[in-house]
Amino acid sequence: MIVTTVDDSLVKDLESVGELWVRRDVPMAAHTSLGVGGPAELYVEPATPGALAAALRLLGDAGVPTVVLGRGTNVIVSDAGVRGAVIATHPGLQKLSLAGSRVVAASGALVGTLVHLAADAGLSGVEGLAGIPGTLGGALYMNAGANGTCLADVVETVTVLCPDGSVQSLRRDEITFGYRFSSLRAQRLYVLEASLRLSTSDPARVHKRMYEVVTTRCQKQPLSARSAGSIFKRPPGDYAGRLLEAAGAKGRRIGDAQFSTKHANFIINLGRAAAADVVKLMAWAQQSVYEQFGVWLEPEVCMIGEGMEVLGRQDCAAR
Ligand SMILES: Cc1cc2nc3c(=O)[nH]c(=O)nc-3n(C[C@H](O)[C@H](O)[C@H](O)COP(=O)(O)OP(=O)(O)OC[C@H]3O[C@@H](n4cnc5c(N)ncnc54)[C@H](O)[C@@H]3O)c2cc1C
Repeated sequence: MIVTTVDDSLVKDLESVGELWVRRDVPMAAHTSLGVGGPAELYVEPATPGALAAALRLLGDAGVPTVVLGRGTNVIVSDAGVRGAVIATHPGLQKLSLAGSRVVAASGALVGTLVHLAADAGLSGVEGLAGIPGTLGGALYMNAGANGTCLADVVETVTVLCPDGSVQSLRRDEITFGYRFSSLRAQRLYVLEASLRLSTSDPARVHKRMYEVVTTRCQKQPLSARSAGSIFKRPPGDYAGRLLEAAGAKGRRIGDAQFSTKHANFIINLGRAAAADVVKLMAWAQQSVYEQFGVWLEPEVCMIGEGMEVLGRQDCAAR
């Protein structure tokens, strides 16, 4: 049981911000694509970037540990739950607007909506990201990518809330992006919105590429099952999926957590998986791949909540 960090007066202060939905003890399994995770002490859904910033400031001033989540498609939340607050940007903050070849998107806007909007407008640059199920905020934080494209390629500016409560607009050259890395993550900045610069193209051509990308995804990935996407990062010069398959991961199961038989780098929830099952499978895979190939696989997913230090890292701890 988590010792509470949130008193009633803070809840009242949050509610008085308006444009915020605040609830206590919300099971995170219902708010993550993998479908595991115990309750967040406080669960907040802002409807505007202003309300998001106000909530972050109030929680920061009260010293309540806070995690911002998008759609929860790249996280494993512990069975013990999350001490402090989880702020979900999706579904409240979905605004997307287009002016010429520039798109301005709120942090909770879906990557999929962005990809479709761009394709319909004949704008190229994000079609390779078709099928990524998360939000813009999560995708920037992780520098999500696929098919030789990543979000960093099209970023112009990112508006963030800093740890001191100030709002700043960062230019692309003020942010460092790498493979599933951004300095936003390292500097503990919260994404409020971003402006992306795309290039003019032919709508039919962009739609065709989008269709190819999604078709390949459907063929290769277990999209009908609950998962958090790729569990491990690609190690230098190799593929996590290849190493995992060679180590016998496909089909291996603990409880209701199983390495997909379709793609070895996906762990799927067969129904009632616990985060502990997923973490045990990951630990087994890291050890097996290391013993057989001398490669230590690094998790791509973010481990959130109480007790997630288990794998020696809680890189997305509440802050
Ligand atoms: C079937 C499937 C396929 C996938 N394919 C890909 C793929 O091809 N390429 C790829 O890169 N990823 C892929 N993913 C993973 C995931 O969809 C992406 O990483 C996505 O960008 C995460 O967005 P999200 O909103 O779900 O983030 P979340 O999972 O909610 O959060 C991820 C991290 O970002 C942080 N975060 C979220 N929003 C904010 C914000 N506004 N400010 C600061 N921090 C924030 C969270 O604290 C957390 O640490 C896949 C996932 C699934 C389930």
